[in-house]
Amino acid sequence: MTVYNTIIIGGGSSGLLSAIHLDDKKSIMLEKNDTLGKKILITGGGRCNITNNNSLENYVKSFYNGGNFYRTAFSSFFNKDVINLLESNGCKTKIEENERVFPVTDKASTVQKTFIRILNKSNTKYTLNTNVNSVKKENDLFIVETDDSRIFKSKFLILATGGNMYPRTGSTGDGYKFAKNFGHKITKQMAGLAPLKISEKWINKLQGIDIEVKLEVKANKKSVLKDKGSIIFTHNGISGPVILNNSMEIEKHLRKNQNVIITLDFCEQYSYEELDRKLQEDFSKNSNKSIKTYLHNYLPKRMSNEYLNHLNIDPTKILNQINKKERNIIRDSLKRLVLTVSEVLEKEAFVTNSGVKRKEINPNTFESKIVENLFIVGELIEGCGISGGYNLQQAYSTGTLASKTIRKRLLYDSY
Ligand SMILES: Cc1cc2nc3c(=O)[nH]c(=O)nc-3n(C[C@H](O)[C@H](O)[C@H](O)COP(=O)(O)OP(=O)(O)OC[C@H]3O[C@@H](n4cnc5c(N)ncnc54)[C@H](O)[C@@H]3O)c2cc1C
Repeated sequence: MTVYNTIIIGGGSSGLLSAIHLDDKKSIMLEKNDTLGKKILITGGGRCNITNNNSLENYVKSFYNGGNFYRTAFSSFFNKDVINLLESNGCKTKIEENERVFPVTDKASTVQKTFIRILNKSNTKYTLNTNVNSVKKENDLFIVETDDSRIFKSKFLILATGGNMYPRTGSTGDGYKFAKNFGHKITKQMAGLAPLKISEKWINKLQGIDIEVKLEVKANKKSVLKDKGSIIFTHNGISGPVILNNSMEIEKHLRKNQNVIITLDFCEQYSYEELDRKLQEDFSKNSNKSIKTYLHNYLPKRMSNEYLNHLNIDPTKILNQINKKERNIIRDSLKRLVLTVSEVLEKEAFVTNSGVKRKEINPNTFESKIVENLFIVGELIEGCGISGGYNLQQAYSTGTLASKTIRKRLLYDSY
């Protein structure tokens, strides 16, 4: 029976980059799906936010539980490296707001196909439709068994199985079981970057509208966080970067059964008093304009009708028909729209925050501190990054560092 140098379990982003950088004909990647990088296809709303163009210092600040853990991994293969790798293989990229990097095609499939093309040029083998069932180590060799009873053996093993979010993409949490078998601890289940379900049903009609806001979260009437950024209304609540990035904090309060409300400020540029004065002046100057049209100064066009209906104000009314009480209602809601959070939608979270305990992994190599020659990479590791391309970069960087470490050891062994 062939004894491979390395087996990589999982052909997602971390597995792909591990396999590419191993570039070894005696190594193999095992993937349960009928294609590699299936999750990449749904990233960035189908556009794939490949990475973030920020500095290393900003990167380390962008991970919950501290990104210093990834400093060596990022130094060994960073944002510029993945951009160069993709661009030199035909996938041109562009940088958008907040340094987010996307393919110029705006199609995640371009990124997935490019990674597969690069892998096909490398020496590492892979096999699809190969669902690993169990793993163990005997006499310095890893023994990997698939659910159709095939056995693979290797000197090194990389667990690149991802977390347990969006299981239809293949990440069904198998890596937790494998890591536990090797004696690792898995932290308490917690979703990262999740949208929120909101009790106020009228906002469901705003589905698909995005807008910049300043927000404040209150738990049992106490202010617990303030932030600003863009939100998007969904079929049952709100999502968007600023919501996703704060969902774990919000969840902590909901888990304590606290009453959590979010207030949205759509007019951060004006104080309460300034907005009040501006509305008074504008209403007298533009008396023949409809309130619906006037609101486009503050809200997206598609939003005004539903917004005014919710405030019980006829959207067709012209400004000089709006009385003081109505004007004050408009002012208050533009500065402080109150929404009640009923749930953090864990099942729709983008990443898993739980995973293999970091202190059981060597951050200079991503080797397990418990089992020699076992490597743990990607989302399977405890913690996650904020929205913006950081999580994919974590997967590429940890996968690459593990492979570089293995290559060095293979080279050393061959002398
Ligand atoms: C909807 C959505 C949008 C996202 N958008 C972005 C974004 O734009 N930018 C960003 O940075 N991050 C984004 N993320 C997060 C990002 O996708 C993950 O952080 C990243 O995919 C993790 O890579 P991974 O290789 O660790 O795991 P995965 O990509 O989940 O790959 C794990 C692989 O292992 C395979 N596998 C699992 N168990 C077995 C087994 N037993 N046998 C064989 N194979 C197995 C799976 O089939 C899968 O292919 C998004 C996530 C979601 C869900």
